[in-house]
Amino acid sequence: MDAVRVLFASSEVHPYSKTGGLADVAAALPRALAALGHEVLVVSPWYGSLSADPPPLWIGDVEVPFAGGFEPVGVGTLEAMGVRYAFVGHRDFQREDLYGYSDDVRRFSRFTRAIPAVAERLGFRPAVVHANDWHTAYLPLLLDHGWHLPHGFPGLPTVFTVHNVQYQGTSGIEEVLWWLRLPGALADDYLNHFGTANAMQSALGHAGRVTTVSPTYADEIRRPEYGYGLDGTFRHIGDRMVGILNGLDTDAWDPSRDPHLPQAYSAADLHGKVRSGRELRTRLGLAGETPVLGVVSRLADQKGIDVLLAAGDRLVAQGWSLALLGSGDPALERAVRELASRHAGRVRAVVGFDEALAHLVYAGSDALAVPSRFEPCGLSQMIAMRYGTLPIARDTGGLHDTIDDERTGFLFRHADPEGLLWATERALALYGTERWRAMVQRAMALDFSWERSARHYAELYRGVVASAR
Ligand code: ADP
Repeated sequence: MDAVRVLFASSEVHPYSKTGGLADVAAALPRALAALGHEVLVVSPWYGSLSADPPPLWIGDVEVPFAGGFEPVGVGTLEAMGVRYAFVGHRDFQREDLYGYSDDVRRFSRFTRAIPAVAERLGFRPAVVHANDWHTAYLPLLLDHGWHLPHGFPGLPTVFTVHNVQYQGTSGIEEVLWWLRLPGALADDYLNHFGTANAMQSALGHAGRVTTVSPTYADEIRRPEYGYGLDGTFRHIGDRMVGILNGLDTDAWDPSRDPHLPQAYSAADLHGKVRSGRELRTRLGLAGETPVLGVVSRLADQKGIDVLLAAGDRLVAQGWSLALLGSGDPALERAVRELASRHAGRVRAVVGFDEALAHLVYAGSDALAVPSRFEPCGLSQMIAMRYGTLPIARDTGGLHDTIDDERTGFLFRHADPEGLLWATERALALYGTERWRAMVQRAMALDFSWERSARHYAELYRGVVASAR
């Protein structure tokens, strides 16, 4: 098997930065590729909040063609678990949050523009470049048409992965061509989505292969209900797009050696799960012995948290206690707090991003609610199953591909409170029975390791490299 040199570009990478699943993928896939003998450089921004101890080694500045001229960015590097990392430093990334600013497209255009120069500075000449989501979506276009690329970079084969089609990176066409230093003639190129520059669409047009993170999501985004305006483009690119299910970082998420739990456990001995449940109740002040329905989620429209909230009183009436951990939309943050204050002792909401508590919620809950409107792949349901916590999830995207209804979890069709309550009712009917215990065993035995997906990506890389020759 030929080893491939891959440049993997991502706006976040665990454990250095994270807002969601993309960070987990950017951590685990390169490691799994490295374990298969491939060589991977991950390039990501050097955020002010970067958590690396020791910090990356700063190796100086590189000049980046940007906004009509050249600008310096700093380069830091480190190596961990067989993977090299390059971090791109600029004052733009010294803000409190990773995203959510009005100049995000400009910020990540600068980052994207810096990637080839940074790789060259590290002496890394990739055979293939893998870009992810809108933040680095201009890379394929840039490698096809950009001026001032380092030797060996023009025309490099590319793969682009859609982790979430809702966020596309839109801006004015002229400004983005100016930032990226691309020829004005590209104004009518794939980046033009009805008169607006659309980073994601430019990648769909220019990448050698497009992937998304589950087979069902790959089908769904070809339809107007899920395509967020790009369904036509997805239909147009046809079988240039495939769905490859994400794996799970099974080292980070392993109940048999999880330092965040009061006691480790496995399918063979679930005592640690019972203790984790007690610890969770104590920590969150949940009274009694009622089954606990956990939630670990971004609080965003996508995640159907409003559906859960609308069902909140009835979930409590059904007999659940709720352990909610999430952050995001301020209105949803307020609403989860309100639900908790109406049901003291039965509902507790922790608003914030808390990795350690997340582990305890996965381990200590009996079931995990995932009422997503759409879910490209979803990690939380996989984590839950590995921790013997049965997911109660909407039947969409990666949730459909990973959960087997009434065998490893519970699925519901309609993104409304009645749909969710129908599934939680079915779950309660089985809770505490032999059948529930068998489901827990089955869920815990599933293999979510990255190796299978990494082999699939490697095959894809070899395909784009071969067809570029
Ligand atoms: P998405 O990437 O759309 O947010 P995923 O299910 O793919 O959803 O991945 C979410 C990841 O982020 C999981 O690892 C989950 O445990 C974690 N996560 C989400 N919200 C929080 C939070 N408030 N605190 C800690 N971890 C969180």
